[in-house]
Amino acid sequence: MAKIIIDEHCIGCGTCEKTCIVGCISQIKNKKRFINPDACVDCGACQLVCPSKCIIS
Ligand code: SF4
Ligand code: SF4
Repeated sequence: MAKIIIDEHCIGCGTCEKTCIVGCISQIKNKKRFINPDACVDCGACQLVCPSKCIIS
């Protein structure tokens, strides 16, 4: 299962994108981030570093 970013709670800090080991997080509008579900390996690293705790399983 891929992780999911809850869009309305994302503050666009980019920490998850820098942390992702497979580079599957990218920027969308308003600097919010999106996880490519086909590339995410569900390691959980982004979830640990997100200051808004807006990444869920
Ligand atoms: S769970 Fe791991 S692979 Fe998936 S988006 Fe987060 S850091 Fe990247
Ligand atoms: S770490 Fe969290 S708040 Fe920051 S860009 Fe990623 S999902 Fe958004």
